[in-house]
Amino acid sequence: MANGGPVQHGFPHLETVRASITALYRRLSYDTVQTFAASVAPVDVAFSDTDDLYMGAQRVARELVRHYHLPDARLIVSFREMSHAANVELAAGPEYFVELNDRFRTHRRDIGAALAHEVMHVYLHRLGLSFPGTRDNEILTDTATTYLGAGWLLLDAYREDAASSQKLGYLTPEEFGYVLAKRALLFAEDPSVWFTSPQAYAAYGKGMAEARRDEEQPPLTAAGWAGRRRYARDRRHAQDHHGAGARPGVPYAFTPDGRGPLRVSFPCPTCQQRIRVPVRGRVRARCGLCRTVLECDT
Ligand SMILES: [Zn+2]
Ligand SMILES: [Zn+2]
Repeated sequence: MANGGPVQHGFPHLETVRASITALYRRLSYDTVQTFAASVAPVDVAFSDTDDLYMGAQRVARELVRHYHLPDARLIVSFREMSHAANVELAAGPEYFVELNDRFRTHRRDIGAALAHEVMHVYLHRLGLSFPGTRDNEILTDTATTYLGAGWLLLDAYREDAASSQKLGYLTPEEFGYVLAKRALLFAEDPSVWFTSPQAYAAYGKGMAEARRDEEQPPLTAAGWAGRRRYARDRRHAQDHHGAGARPGVPYAFTPDGRGPLRVSFPCPTCQQRIRVPVRGRVRARCGLCRTVLECDT
């Protein structure tokens, strides 16, 4: 887990974040994702300055191991001076050694956030799910941590004042907000009641706006007027040219179906897997991966 540096904002990793959500659904299935309907509760990872450092860290680690359904995994937490925030040794298990940066000795309330990310590395390691390259793999780890209910801790560890800033993880605050919002929309959950950081609220708001935009893209019936008008124009163009493929800046693409009718493909707003439906007015589709029912006007 990375540490320090200026805080990056916006949605620079959105493509990889979305690919991570799709990969999670493919590897875990709809049913397993549903077993993560409850988030980590604040009380279960609370860590006061009067708690014993090692016993407290072990207790929080055990709670995260339980949350991720890793019954036989045992985490051994230690502290040392290091440039990174935290690190985990991915061995065969069932014991895993996690190192936390020495500064967590005096920033105990963020130990839950650091461990949420590191224990997710163990979870993904056991699943055999990874992305090539450190950057993409860390984005997958942050996204999975957040989508499966422990990532609100990472967003809440983002704090800024006139003198200093702190952020954990590889996603920007807004991207953590986006994944948290995708989860909130799926499970009808409001994670913002757990935030202690004012900056976390703002980032969550921006992430939620981005997540809602996913649900308001044509051909979904929730699309706005401007989107529908553009869609109608693109569809006319595709009908005249026997399919137009993908166009820059729009999430949908028209393809001819042999000599049959025109079809349109677009990303599922929940899991981002591409859905393909015939172009013939009102269509109800069901995503095969995440089972979301999609009302479309094609
Ligand atoms: Zn990591
Ligand atoms: Zn889906």
